[in-house]
Amino acid sequence: MTIAPLRLTIDMNALAANWRWLARMSGPAACGAAVKADGYGTGAAEAVARLAREGCRDFFVATWAEARALIPGLGMGVTLHVLHGLLPGEDAVPGAQPVLNTPEQVARWRAVAGGRPCDLMFDTGMNRLGLSPADATLADGLSVDVAMSHLACADEVGHPANAQQLAAFRALSLPAGVRRSLANSAGICMGTDYSFDLTRPGLALYGGIPRAEAHGHIQPVVRIESAVLQIRHVPAGDMVGYGGTWQAPRDSRIAIVNLGYADGYLRGFSNRGQAFAKGVSCPVAGRVSMDLTAIDITDAPLLAEGDWIEIDFDLARASIQSGLSQYELLTCLSDRYLRCYL
Ligand SMILES: *Cc1c(COP(=O)(O)O)cnc(C)c1O
Repeated sequence: MTIAPLRLTIDMNALAANWRWLARMSGPAACGAAVKADGYGTGAAEAVARLAREGCRDFFVATWAEARALIPGLGMGVTLHVLHGLLPGEDAVPGAQPVLNTPEQVARWRAVAGGRPCDLMFDTGMNRLGLSPADATLADGLSVDVAMSHLACADEVGHPANAQQLAAFRALSLPAGVRRSLANSAGICMGTDYSFDLTRPGLALYGGIPRAEAHGHIQPVVRIESAVLQIRHVPAGDMVGYGGTWQAPRDSRIAIVNLGYADGYLRGFSNRGQAFAKGVSCPVAGRVSMDLTAIDITDAPLLAEGDWIEIDFDLARASIQSGLSQYELLTCLSDRYLRCYL
């Protein structure tokens, strides 16, 4: 048995249920899955295997390095899309297809494609990565599978950019048979006007709540539990941690747990995060340090050294506590956790 004082439990049934909800919300469109950044920190290979079993046929990674790690495990009929396209000198290995973002990428792909399929990314107002709509004809003669664009403000209710990007995407002139894809998790929440042929959720698969519509439907996927290394009595008035930013308001019991910013529990949680000890909510006391965090367990008197404490990692709540986005909370999780897949 492996003993590790820090564990990350990843609930694959919740991941699958989240995908099924997103697929239902996508209406007649197929529902893919963004598994870049190692499945938002939860394990891309595990996510691909499970979601392929649920019927997911399109997976998205950022880079060829990410693609190479997944290609050997891909089943039949599954397409892996590489969002960053094809850089100079890059080898488009068989088993994945590039999402071409610039006229130069289109030209580079044309030279090596040999009839293989590719995708096109169009910029419809975000001014991030993508071809301008006027460049659509550059891909004439290529075998284009998916034409996509990405929404800049889908998580903001009523933002005028959403309708503008939708109109710009609809106006693209594309050959018949090219699949269209616009919506990420938040875009799916805006309704099937945004779904087109294929949706590309990421965050919500992993338990993130991109918009209010997802509340009550998206289940948490990750749980963090940390072992209590020491319990100390701190007299009223004494300080805790670097900088002494927490001072005991009363005689207190403090648990020092095996978790810190090197684990992705960043310093924004200092004096703001919380944990659950024997079901009791207990606040973070003082600054989070690299490997250690102090929790005020005065109200959980039964907690003892060696016990486990659950860190509040409800993504919407933890985002407010820490000032980090739900995306950052997930993708910052380090590899120091013992990962347990349910
Ligand atoms: C990351 C990404 C997604 C997934 O977005 P979420 O907001 O996590 O749902 C979809 N499309 C593209 C192009 C992306 O880069």
